[in-house]
Amino acid sequence: MVPVGSAKRLWEEALDILDSCACSGGNLPRFVQPVLLALLAEESMHGYVLVQKLGETGLFGAQVPDMTGCYRMLRDMERSGVLEASTDRGEGPQRKKYRVTALGRRCLNRWIDSLTRSRDHTERVLSFLLAARLAAMDGGGYCPEEERLFMEDVRKRAMNGEMPRREDVLRLLAYAPGSPEEEYLGRLARETAREAAGNRAGVWAAIGVDSAPCSMNCAFCAFGEAWGVVREKHELSEEEIVVAARRYAAEGASWMVLRTTEHYGLERLCRLAGVVRASLPKRCALVANTGQKSREDIRRLHEAGFGVMYHALRLGEGKDTPFDPKLRREALCRIGREDVALACLVEPLGGEHGNEEIADVMLAAMSAGAQICGVMARVNVPGTPYEGRAGVPEARLARVAAVVRLCGGIRTPYVCVHPPLSQAVEWGANVVVVETGAVPRESGEVSGEWQGFTVREARELFLRHGYVLKADADRDGEVPGAAREVF
Ligand code: SF4
Repeated sequence: MVPVGSAKRLWEEALDILDSCACSGGNLPRFVQPVLLALLAEESMHGYVLVQKLGETGLFGAQVPDMTGCYRMLRDMERSGVLEASTDRGEGPQRKKYRVTALGRRCLNRWIDSLTRSRDHTERVLSFLLAARLAAMDGGGYCPEEERLFMEDVRKRAMNGEMPRREDVLRLLAYAPGSPEEEYLGRLARETAREAAGNRAGVWAAIGVDSAPCSMNCAFCAFGEAWGVVREKHELSEEEIVVAARRYAAEGASWMVLRTTEHYGLERLCRLAGVVRASLPKRCALVANTGQKSREDIRRLHEAGFGVMYHALRLGEGKDTPFDPKLRREALCRIGREDVALACLVEPLGGEHGNEEIADVMLAAMSAGAQICGVMARVNVPGTPYEGRAGVPEARLARVAAVVRLCGGIRTPYVCVHPPLSQAVEWGANVVVVETGAVPRESGEVSGEWQGFTVREARELFLRHGYVLKADADRDGEVPGAAREVF
């Protein structure tokens, strides 16, 4: 077996090689010449103004040639006769003004003809590559055609923004583990992530602000007072929260979650939101993860700076929890109707949960308008009623993530898997969680990151699976950032 460190090094070296491959778009600067001709065809300009205008076109992104390179190209173009230059004779340094010659106009027209031919050819090559990629996903043609067509139809409807049908979700969940159908589902789900989220993947950084024994005694939660796991109240200070939030945002988190118990109080949470929001870059959305809220409370949280609210109809709701599932569903819909985005996972998934229940919880999240969905495994914390029970198999977790990914389409661009799982990321899960502080899946306070999983590792996981980190893309200005925008 290749040691993990060397495999990683080999992969990074391979990626470096790709940076100089034509697939990186590295030949874009050669289009500088026709763009210069087009700018000068409109009006004559001084070299300095011309280079400024070239940058303003936005046609080359980060690849706009530097000033020296541009002047060299202008000199070459002058020498070849497509441009001519006159020199200002006024006060100050002499400056050249460029204009296009008749030969230059001819050259510009030829560029337009060549690029048109090239575009037609590119479109034909692209169609061929896309068709080849879909054919390659079949993994050797073992997935029955009927199932392939069924899955492609599910995907097509999801990409048209349609809600998934319950019977379709159940059929996808029922494929045999390790079967060609499952393999095809996973690959198609990865393609869906590429299209629905522009191949972006993001880090959900959760700060557990407080913990306290909770009288609701949900069977899966370490905070339940009846289990005696968490015996005292504990809170992070405002300073600790701001320091953690700043660090996670700088490292590349796209969502900053403040997870609080009912004891924390709405007023305090709103005040804290203002302080944390002010310390975050615009591209990082602030997320509230707190108890069930009224419409008025949701609006106050939004005004305080929260752009997203996490809420869930849990698996086993009403049996493992004292909450009425109907009221939980209504709470989900309330959030979905307001200006904040809804995040809602299928959770906490245990080995005993059947496909029917999983499908119902998933559809409840999607019909309420969840833009971030996904799946979270139950962690059977010692001292809670689930102590000693086997955890859900990773393959099951990855399968549910793939089904959510395929069925979510453009309605649910982001699909989370927690704990982070490579197979699920390979099958289209594009959000993973880094958490600190109070964690209801842990018997004590977490001082670093839960299970040692950091933003850096999340970043590496996504890059290994060919995603672009959402924070990097937003930082580059590819996506306009706004304080409350999530996507
Ligand atoms: S899940 Fe929430 S309501 Fe239930 S015991 Fe834990 S803190 Fe209390």
